[in-house]
Amino acid sequence: MIRTGTEYRDSIRDGREVYVNGEKVRDVATHPMFKPLVDIRARIHDMAHDPATRDVMTVTQNGQTNAIGNALPYTQADWWAKRRATDTVLDAVGGIVTRVGDETVGEMWSLLDGAEALAAIDPQFAPNIKAHIAKVLQADPFHVSANTDPKGDRSKAPQDQDPDMLLHVVKETDAGIIVRGAKYETAAAYANQAFTKPTIANWGDAALSDYAVGFICDLGAPGLKFICRTGFATRAQAEDYPLSNRFDEVDTLVIFDNVLIPWENVLFYRHTQAAMHIRATLHRYSAFAFVQRSLKLADMLIGAALFNVRQTGLDKLQPVQEKLAQLAVWRESLNAHLTAAIVLGERSPAGLMMPNQSLLYAGRVLACGQLHEMMHIARDLCGGQISLTPDAASFRHPDTAPWLEKYYTINDEWGAEDRRKLLAFARDLLNSDYAGHRLSFQMFAQSPPFAHLSAVYRNFDWDGPLSLVKDAAGLSDRVLGAKTLTPGDSSLSKWFATETPKGKAAK
Ligand SMILES: Cc1cc2nc3c(=O)[nH]c(=O)nc-3n(C[C@H](O)[C@H](O)[C@H](O)COP(=O)(O)OP(=O)(O)OC[C@H]3O[C@@H](n4cnc5c(N)ncnc54)[C@H](O)[C@@H]3O)c2cc1C
Repeated sequence: MIRTGTEYRDSIRDGREVYVNGEKVRDVATHPMFKPLVDIRARIHDMAHDPATRDVMTVTQNGQTNAIGNALPYTQADWWAKRRATDTVLDAVGGIVTRVGDETVGEMWSLLDGAEALAAIDPQFAPNIKAHIAKVLQADPFHVSANTDPKGDRSKAPQDQDPDMLLHVVKETDAGIIVRGAKYETAAAYANQAFTKPTIANWGDAALSDYAVGFICDLGAPGLKFICRTGFATRAQAEDYPLSNRFDEVDTLVIFDNVLIPWENVLFYRHTQAAMHIRATLHRYSAFAFVQRSLKLADMLIGAALFNVRQTGLDKLQPVQEKLAQLAVWRESLNAHLTAAIVLGERSPAGLMMPNQSLLYAGRVLACGQLHEMMHIARDLCGGQISLTPDAASFRHPDTAPWLEKYYTINDEWGAEDRRKLLAFARDLLNSDYAGHRLSFQMFAQSPPFAHLSAVYRNFDWDGPLSLVKDAAGLSDRVLGAKTLTPGDSSLSKWFATETPKGKAAK
C-alpha cells in the first residue's frame, strides 16, 4: 500500500500531545511551525501516485508496488533507483529535507541482517522483526529514529541517579512492557512510528539490563508527550529566510510517561549483547540517504557561492577559482563515495545489497567532518553582504527603496531584486539560526563524530595494508599471528580482478 498525503495528514491527527514554544499544539498538520514539513512529507506520498513521478517514486517487487524509500534493496539497480528518487524529491521541493522516512527506515533492514544473531541471543522477539519490516512495506508509515536519551551525569550509572535519564522498562504486563524515560527525535511530532533503542552505552559486564530494550514505538501511543524546540518557520519573513520557513525539521524531546509497548512491537529486551549488536550495524543502509543529503547541500553551497562571484565579476580571479575548486573537490568526493558504495555493494547476511560499508562510512566522515569548512569557504566567497543586507521590506519602503535599488543593482543581468534574493538565500544557507542548526544536524543526527569514525574503524579492510607492508618490508608470517593474507584482498582489488577487461578475460 502507498498512502496519499491526505491519509498521512489524517494519521497524525490522533490526539497526540505536542508542545512548541510554550504552546499546546491543536493540530500538528496545520500549525505554522510544522506545516511546511508536514506538507513536504505529504507531497512525497502524493508523488508516488502522481503519473509524472510515480515510476521514479515506486517499485514493484514480488508483485507488490511499494514506495521506493521503504523497499528493501536487493541489487545495485535498487540503490540507483533510491538515489534517483531522493534527488527527484529534493529537486521537486527545492531544498533539503533529511528526516522524511527514507533516511531512517534502513535501520530496520539492519535488524533483518541481525535477526539470526538476535534470535540466538533471545529467540522470542525474532518474528517481530520480520513482521515490522513487512508492515513498513504494507502500511507505508512515516518512520523515524529514537536513540538519544538526556542521559544525565555520565559518570554515574543510571540506577545511581534519576533512573529515567535513560529510557528503561519499569514493568511487564500480559499486553507488553511499560517504559519510562525520554528520547530526542527529529520529526517525531509529525511522524507515525520510531525504531526506539539505546544509544551508545557502556554496559560494563552486565549481560542483562532493563535499559537494553528496542521496540517500534507507535507515536500515537498514550503517555507520550512531544516537547519540541521552537521552529524556525514564521519567526521571520519567508522572503528574508526562505530555507528556515520551508525546510525546518523540528526536533522533539519525546517523553515516555509509562508507555505501554505491546509485545509484538518489542524487538529485543534485556540482553545487552543484542543492544550492542544493533548499534554496531545501525546505519549500514541509512548512512547512504544521509550522505546523499550532504551532496545536495554541497550543490547548494557551490550554486550560492558561484552566482555571487559571477554577479560581482570575481570569478575571473585565480584565487577565487581555487576556492570554488575546493568546494567542487568536496562535492565530487561525496559523489565518488556514494557512487562507489553502490558499484562495490556487498551482500548482507540477510541477502540484501548493502552499499560498500567501508566506502560509505568513510564518505559520511568526509561529508560531516568537512561541512563546517565548506560552509566557511562558501561564506568567504559570498562576502560580507550576506550579513549586511537589509530585509525585503526595506527594498520596498518608498524612502529606502531607491537607495537599495541603486546599490544592489550590479549590471544588466543582475538587478537589485535578484541580488537581494540571492543574498537572502545565502544568509539562510550559511549564517542563520537554521544554517547553524543544519550544521549540528549533520554532525550529530546519525550519532556524533566519534561514532562515525568508529564505524570506519570497524569496517575498513585493515588486512590489505598489513599484507602490503608485510611483503614490502620482508616481514615474517609470524607478524600476522594465525592470519594468512592474500595481497590485494580488499574489495576494490576483488572488483578489479573480476570486472575490468583484464579481469574478465582472466575469468
Ligand atoms: C539537530 C539534531 C538532531 C538530532 N536528531 C536525533 C534523532 O532524530 N534521533 C536521535 O536519537 N537523536 C538525535 N539527535 C541526538 C544525537 O544523536 C546526539 O546529540 C548524539 O548522539 C550525541 O549525544 P549527546 O548530545 O548526548 O552528546 P554527549 O553524549 O554529551 O557527547 C558530547 C560529546 O562528548 C564526546 N564524547 C561523548 N562520549 C564519548 C565517547 N564514548 N567517546 C568519545 N567521545 C565522546 C564527543 O565529542 C561528543 O560529541 C539529534 C541531535 C541534533 C543536534
